[in-house]
Amino acid sequence: MTPGTPNPDADILVVGAGAAGLMAAITAGRAGRCVIALDGAKKLGAKILVAGGGRCNVTHHAVDERQYAGSSPHAIRNVLGRFGVERTRAFFAGLGVDLKQEDTGKLFPVSDDAHTVLDALLRAARDARVELRHPWRVGAISPIAGGFEVCREGEPGSLRAPRVILATGGRALPRTGSDGAGYDIARALGHTITPRVFPALVPLTLAAGHPLTQLAGITFPATISLRAPSGKVLAEFTNAVLLTHFGLSGPGPMDISRHVIGARLSGPGVTITMNLVPGLTPDRLDAALLSTRGLSVLRWLTHELPRGTPVPGLAAPGLPERFARLIAGHAGIDPVAPVTSLSRDQRRALVDAISRHPLPITGDRGFTYAEVTAGGIPLSQVRLDSMESRATPGLYLCGEILDVDGRIGGFNFQWAWASGHTAGSAAAK
Ligand SMILES: Cc1cc2nc3c(=O)[nH]c(=O)nc-3n(C[C@H](O)[C@H](O)[C@H](O)COP(=O)(O)OP(=O)(O)OC[C@H]3O[C@@H](n4cnc5c(N)ncnc54)[C@H](O)[C@@H]3O)c2cc1C
Repeated sequence: MTPGTPNPDADILVVGAGAAGLMAAITAGRAGRCVIALDGAKKLGAKILVAGGGRCNVTHHAVDERQYAGSSPHAIRNVLGRFGVERTRAFFAGLGVDLKQEDTGKLFPVSDDAHTVLDALLRAARDARVELRHPWRVGAISPIAGGFEVCREGEPGSLRAPRVILATGGRALPRTGSDGAGYDIARALGHTITPRVFPALVPLTLAAGHPLTQLAGITFPATISLRAPSGKVLAEFTNAVLLTHFGLSGPGPMDISRHVIGARLSGPGVTITMNLVPGLTPDRLDAALLSTRGLSVLRWLTHELPRGTPVPGLAAPGLPERFARLIAGHAGIDPVAPVTSLSRDQRRALVDAISRHPLPITGDRGFTYAEVTAGGIPLSQVRLDSMESRATPGLYLCGEILDVDGRIGGFNFQWAWASGHTAGSAAAK
């Protein structure tokens, strides 16, 4: 035991045994430390099991700071660089979990089953002689001479150790136990939380009855753009969009959600539009329309070309028919009108309806449906080479409790592995 703490129960107490906490505990245990990991959940690893639609998207082949938001890119890069994708691959291979890369760049276990990942992590924790105690929900952490006392919430019982790793996650999917309680614990230990903590990777809502909600179930690729009142593009993502009865889901809307919510919280006047022909500018779309012969607007929008027809206007949106009718209606154009009959203004209206289709977002589905949390403890409050708190030495922070959130694609787990590994190895020194 590290000397100093009266009657310590462990060298290191890890609070929260999700992805980051498990990685930290395994790393510290492997370094020979006596580790107890505490978690309030009855069943461990709920988020790992639901991740990636039950397949667990463990990481991404190309991880860099540009795929994240929150704290400064420089600080995020610093931490990611300490435990990169190759080390994640090797770590899991060492646990008998080989990862395969899909066309999207996402890495999944070859089993396509998240249980493989969770079981391997729990086995690794046992092998590293980490004691996992749960349900054991922490209510407070108090500094004591030479370390910390970690108190159980609502029940008698406390544990002592010279070092504590706080890995309680954020507020996304609160039923898994990640309900933001860790923020209060961190505040009591001298930390501050970003002024705003809000859902990220979350579906977005439109007003009830908005025409797009009538098309629930339709999915298509699109570029979604968020613009400042000045017209400046603040964020842009190209990915699949799924229309739902409440609004927009799928990777495109989820990826841009944190930017939309953050911008709306900052002030009014931002606009959100989608381009249904990603990569095609309004000018090129207009040129495509101009060179189209012998097709109705509906035919052109749906790209339902008669077999063998030579098509000059190759770039057509290829929309499902119901969606095409909505687009024509939005532009105020009769869908059966021949493309060649459109006036200049009608063409412009149609191009706008396709390439700058307005998305009057009213809100989001909240933490219950969010995959991650935007906001948290700023990285400026930890030492990046160790994840040790600058406010309270001996306390280490890792995972989603920090102000870092990534895109869809395995980036959030990579953050958990990288920050967890750094915290675990530093706390073990
Ligand atoms: C539906 C869904 C799908 C996702 N899919 C992916 C994916 O495929 N790929 C990807 O990279 N990311 C994915 N994510 C995001 C990813 O799961 C998280 O970013 C990651 O799990 C964060 O890890 P963490 O350990 O920091 O926090 P968490 O996983 O939230 O773990 C925190 C742990 O702390 C415990 N805890 C909280 N408070 C206390 C307390 N007071 N006392 C004791 N214990 C406490 C909780 O019970 C929990 O077990 C998904 C998230 C969701 C919700």
